[in-house]
Amino acid sequence: MVLVSHEPSLTCALCPRLTEFRIKNKNLYPTWHNAPVPSFGDFKSNILIVGLAPGLQGANRTGRPFTGDYAGDLLYQTLLDFNLATGVYDPEQPSLYHLKNVRITNAVRCVPPENKPESQEINHCLPFLKSEIAAMVHLKIILTLGTIAHNSVLKALDYKKTLYPFKHGASYPLTPSLILVNSYHCSRYNTNTGRLTSEMFQDVFRILTKFL
Ligand code: URA
Repeated sequence: MVLVSHEPSLTCALCPRLTEFRIKNKNLYPTWHNAPVPSFGDFKSNILIVGLAPGLQGANRTGRPFTGDYAGDLLYQTLLDFNLATGVYDPEQPSLYHLKNVRITNAVRCVPPENKPESQEINHCLPFLKSEIAAMVHLKIILTLGTIAHNSVLKALDYKKTLYPFKHGASYPLTPSLILVNSYHCSRYNTNTGRLTSEMFQDVFRILTKFL
């Protein structure tokens, strides 16, 4: 068995297109993080939230998932509302915000051009998600934000996606002690078009917290 760290190295070069994009951004914005974005939160948490990939001016800039991305405004506020975080969410002062019993990661750790990772890139990042999940020994709930995160988690755990189709609000018991919950991604596009409202997102957290 090959053991893979749960975090890619800061100079990971598994994906040529993403590496090229990173180098370009390093030259344009030398003060930004511009590297694979590590997961955020305690490994001992019961909840893992899986997003898609860092946004260019958000997580790729700040070095923390969803931090500074439009999607982070809704996610981090909802976590505060459900007592799954404390403090104040301010992307420019990340130390003011603390997750409680939650860890957050992304299916793809590097920012992709136009927020669209290619399938080979998603596959290259899969071993890190696998290791991440394996390391979370108290894991009870995985919340996937969007279809790509959902399919990555199923693949990481060797479950067939035909048996667990992505559906907003669905909860699937994968084992007696592990539940998979689905939500539409809290992206700007989904919230602006009304596909996901903050009430709908809160409903997902109501479902999720019942399993704690
Ligand atoms: N920022 C992230 O870190 N992940 C997402 O899925 C979206 C924005």
